[in-house]
Amino acid sequence: MLSLNILKVLNRITLDFKNEGLASPRLDAEVLLANYLKTDRSGLYTKFERLITDEELNGILSWVERRQKGESVAYIVGKKEFWSLIFQVNSTVLVPRPETELLVEEVLKTCLGLDDRDISILEVGTGSGAISVAIASELKRIRVVATDVSAEVIKLAGKNAENNGVADKISFLCGSLFEPVSGKFDIIVSNPPYISEEEFDRLPLEVRDFEPKEALIAGPEGTEFHYNLIVEGSRYLKFGGWLCMEMGAGQKAVVESMFRENKTYDNVSFRADYAGIDRVVMAQKAVSSEQ
Ligand code: SAM
Ligand code: GLN
Repeated sequence: MLSLNILKVLNRITLDFKNEGLASPRLDAEVLLANYLKTDRSGLYTKFERLITDEELNGILSWVERRQKGESVAYIVGKKEFWSLIFQVNSTVLVPRPETELLVEEVLKTCLGLDDRDISILEVGTGSGAISVAIASELKRIRVVATDVSAEVIKLAGKNAENNGVADKISFLCGSLFEPVSGKFDIIVSNPPYISEEEFDRLPLEVRDFEPKEALIAGPEGTEFHYNLIVEGSRYLKFGGWLCMEMGAGQKAVVESMFRENKTYDNVSFRADYAGIDRVVMAQKAVSSEQ
């Protein structure tokens, strides 16, 4: 076998990915190679001449093949950065998305407006734990309850809370929607499944064939979870508390009318993501509402 160094392998993988039409061939190649060799991307650049053994090459090529079949880099290397923190991911959880950082930002802004006391937050559908862990990493006096319908998911989320040093601030509960929850919260946050059954078939292969369907599909409309969170969530919010949710393209009008019809919320507002899609909705439980 010819002796191959890091630079040659990197260039070769990049070229293959480029020819396959991947969107970010060089970045993907660097992240895969760096992780396989247990270094970081800058580590590759300082060791371009280092030789790759046959055994390493076989391992790297099996990762390259997985990427070529559509699996995301995050699942292959088993981790993803979110809010500058590292989260372990596997096929039971959605890979946290950059847009979801907007939801974290909105929750943190809302916390600034609350009294200076222990703030209680409920997250429904925590997945990797990205949202709860990010919020808990920013606030000292905070109590978070994070739920998910899958026990396996909850286990991974707990590990991510531990790895990021916030396990003492978050209680993880397994169950559907509000079923495992009691008490009232200052904020309820959720990035629920919001893909409609029809939209699902049009998702990129990387998402459709590799990410858990239970994390994506909401039902025929795509807004079924939002409806349940709005209607049931009100009972778990303190007066003046906030419900903050992520949503998908084209869902603004439906979600807005759900809040208006419900009548227990005020101050409905939206925030668009960097692509101009209304991505986050927030509403406040009216102080005068009966629930
Ligand atoms: N919060 C994570 C994030 O933002 O990356 C994951 C969001 S993912 C879109 C939705 C999550 O909701 C999944 O982890 C899924 O398992 C969970 N889920 C689905 N149905 C649920 C239900 N009925 N009750 C609670 N969680 C549910
Ligand atoms: N934003 C995700 C996607 O790209 C969908 C996540 C969700 O359903 N909450 O498919």
